[in-house]
Amino acid sequence: MKILVVEDETKTGDYLKQGLTESGFSVDLARTGLDGHHLARTGSYDLVILDVMLPDIDGWKIVSSIREAEDNTPVLFLTAKDSVEDRVKGLELGADDYLVKPFAFAELLARVRTLLRRPAVQHSGDKLQISNLVLNLPKRRVTRSGKLIRLTNKEFSLLELLVRRQGEVLPRSLIASQVWDMNFDSDTNVIDVAIRRLRSKIDDPFKSKLIHTVRGMGYTLEDPSENSDE
Ligand code: CA
Repeated sequence: MKILVVEDETKTGDYLKQGLTESGFSVDLARTGLDGHHLARTGSYDLVILDVMLPDIDGWKIVSSIREAEDNTPVLFLTAKDSVEDRVKGLELGADDYLVKPFAFAELLARVRTLLRRPAVQHSGDKLQISNLVLNLPKRRVTRSGKLIRLTNKEFSLLELLVRRQGEVLPRSLIASQVWDMNFDSDTNVIDVAIRRLRSKIDDPFKSKLIHTVRGMGYTLEDPSENSDE
């Protein structure tokens, strides 16, 4: 598995390259945005790890360019800014996941492995698709089997998170922080209620179910027609 790391900070770049190499990956390290952009567009990688703040062209421009070329290589972006807007911006531009600096290497490795294992979510322009479910991101519109499904803003964000991280079990605490931007309070059942409403709209009218409960752990979205090793 070949990974491209684009990182201008010498120490972080070296640390990522060494850690990933020791974990069995083949790693190319680009220290400028221009080099990274060139390699991403011309090389063939299984995953790109992209720092956002680069001195020449930033990570956001690079991810946009990769997606404009209809290249679906998974992109994990590294950001020092932990603001909701930045996270949303990166994901809207087509990144698959993000990690806020500073991060633990074990956390990065877990995200990398998940992204490599996950069947690719199809990014086509502004759309995300899994099975017959299509999310139009700029319009925040959802269809399943061509039928328009009306979702609230929060339901859309929740569904988008589940689709982007399909196959991964998402704990309630993670859903709470990503969709509601709040700390999870175990007394509240806001997430279960939202999931129930979302299911009633996207799953109940259809034979094959996409949202699954993993008892004691959280929720996952999976296309039951995909071969699964679980
Ligand atoms: Ca940087």
